[in-house]
Amino acid sequence: MYTANQFYKDTFGHKMYKASITLDVTCPNRDGSKGTGGCIFCSNEGSGEFASRGMDITAQIDEAIERVKGKAGPDAGYIAYFQSYTNTYCTPEYLRKSIEEASAHPKIEAVSVATRPDCLPDEILEVLRAAADKIPLFVELGLQTSSDKTAMLINRGYKSEIYPEAVQKLKSIGANVITHVIVGLPEETHLDMENTVRFVASSGSSGIKFTCLYVLEGTILADMYRAGELKVLGMEEYFDIVFDLISLLPDNMVIHRLTGDGPKKILIAPDWTRNKRKVLNYMNRRFGL
Ligand code: SF4
Repeated sequence: MYTANQFYKDTFGHKMYKASITLDVTCPNRDGSKGTGGCIFCSNEGSGEFASRGMDITAQIDEAIERVKGKAGPDAGYIAYFQSYTNTYCTPEYLRKSIEEASAHPKIEAVSVATRPDCLPDEILEVLRAAADKIPLFVELGLQTSSDKTAMLINRGYKSEIYPEAVQKLKSIGANVITHVIVGLPEETHLDMENTVRFVASSGSSGIKFTCLYVLEGTILADMYRAGELKVLGMEEYFDIVFDLISLLPDNMVIHRLTGDGPKKILIAPDWTRNKRKVLNYMNRRFGL
């Protein structure tokens, strides 16, 4: 398994940590252009509950580095991570300025931009191309599933067919593409999840991030969960599935994340994800890390 830690060591020569940044953006699933309620699992913070808000980019990076520097140590490098909402859903000028400010921070060695495959118009790709010429650039695409049936159910707001083209466009401008996948989406079978991973593998995406489906307060998923319409995965069950899915990936695909931890103050389920130490211990044993 090619882990992100190993990839960062191979690429940058040392460990890398992410400094999360929240831009002044929304997403087409929230502002009415594709929908208003957002994806059914997404909280009001747009999947960025850990990011600082209301500060300029340099201050956000400083604060994020301050939080992890004890763990990271003096030799670590940092990736400016535009995490919340859809970070290419803005004017090209705003994105350009934001990336330039982040790149100018002395501790930042790379930039990562989280977005959706349907939010990459040519003018934005030009901004990303210019950025990739100056600094290592990652673009993280929220695919979650290759099934259009599930995509409808979770209110993702675009068809899966546009994803492989988005990956190719991003690769052609020099970006390193990471694809986000959610394991345990409502009504998904093991075969659906295998199909998603095969779809990612065949797209040319360089990396993948797995996340367990979390039920967060204030989401449509929370209503479904409380109505008994949703079963969440147990810890062992989740990692068994991820273990199988990884075997379908090419050896050179970077596994950036095997699971995440949802924001505790609004987490409803699964409860096991609250105990990060236990999860990490289990995961490390299960995957021989
Ligand atoms: S997950 Fe991303 S695309 Fe979906 S509602 Fe949240 S911010 Fe928007």
